[in-house]
Amino acid sequence: MIPASFNYHRASSVNEALDLLKQYGDDARLLAGGHSLLPAMKLRMNAPANLIDIGRIAELNSIRVENGTLHIGAGATHSAIAASPDVQGHAPVLADTAGMIGDVQVRNKGTIGGSLAHADPAADYPAVLLILNASINVIGPNGTRSIAAGDFFQDLYVTALEENEIITGVEIPAMPQGAGAVYLKFAQPASRFALVGCAALVKKDGGTCSEVRVAFTGVGNMPFRDSGVEGALTGQSADASAIEAAAAQAAGGIDVLSDHFAGEDYRTHLARVYARRALSQAAGLA
Ligand SMILES: Cc1cc2nc3c(=O)[nH]c(=O)nc-3n(C[C@H](O)[C@H](O)[C@H](O)COP(=O)(O)OP(=O)(O)OC[C@H]3O[C@@H](n4cnc5c(N)ncnc54)[C@H](O)[C@@H]3O)c2cc1C
Repeated sequence: MIPASFNYHRASSVNEALDLLKQYGDDARLLAGGHSLLPAMKLRMNAPANLIDIGRIAELNSIRVENGTLHIGAGATHSAIAASPDVQGHAPVLADTAGMIGDVQVRNKGTIGGSLAHADPAADYPAVLLILNASINVIGPNGTRSIAAGDFFQDLYVTALEENEIITGVEIPAMPQGAGAVYLKFAQPASRFALVGCAALVKKDGGTCSEVRVAFTGVGNMPFRDSGVEGALTGQSADASAIEAAAAQAAGGIDVLSDHFAGEDYRTHLARVYARRALSQAAGLA
């Protein structure tokens, strides 16, 4: 449980972090809250020679709404996101989700940028960012770019981040007018990571579901929008039987994860149950 020795560098700006990454290249890792990286280093799954601490860069911490878009800096902690009136007002589902992550210590140290870069298949934010049509802003040696959440997660612990790129923040457009959205998870009792997490957004016109977005975490190698469930409910009435029929399609065509916490059949069952519950609650809020 003791990591290999490393050199510690504290960056005071994003530009300084970029310079340090350029200088130390493959031998360096960014350190944000440390709540995924340090456990991996203690298990010797990771042994970077240099840690570049970006945890005190003020420009990465801001949370604000500008021109109808919510901007969250990569360094915002889960606690800050849960408590932010801007997040609560613009995307309450995201504030609720941040409040469900881990325990108080994890929420006070862990950051949204670190969570996204780490891309744990059981992390909570990804499913919610998928239903919110969020984009992830990054800066690197070739300048800045914005990556749609749907393109960002590519496989187990694999993202679209390129070498020496830093996530600077997340942008979330306004939710469709009148839509309801929720995130529910069946949590691993010790870590609170999602064995299965389902995010659902429903917009109704009259009694009909005019827009449905559903995404899962914990079910496959990476978070995904479930087009089978979305297609089955869109245009249907938001009643219990239509929701149940749509939820029964959950995880169709997905290679469902199986591990010592939950086998494939159990996870598939949980995906259907949580899809039904999340859709019902989202429809109730719409
Ligand atoms: C006990 C425990 C329980 C947890 N429970 C949950 C849970 O219920 N749900 C959940 O979703 N998560 C959970 N987590 C994970 C937690 O949310 C972490 O905080 C998060 O995954 C990583 O964020 P961090 O800021 O700590 O990143 P770090 O650990 O510092 O970094 C993680 C990785 O991201 C890279 N990185 C960090 N910031 C950036 C950036 N801005 N740009 C590019 N790369 C970057 C680092 O180099 C590293 O590779 C848990 C963790 C622990 C220890």
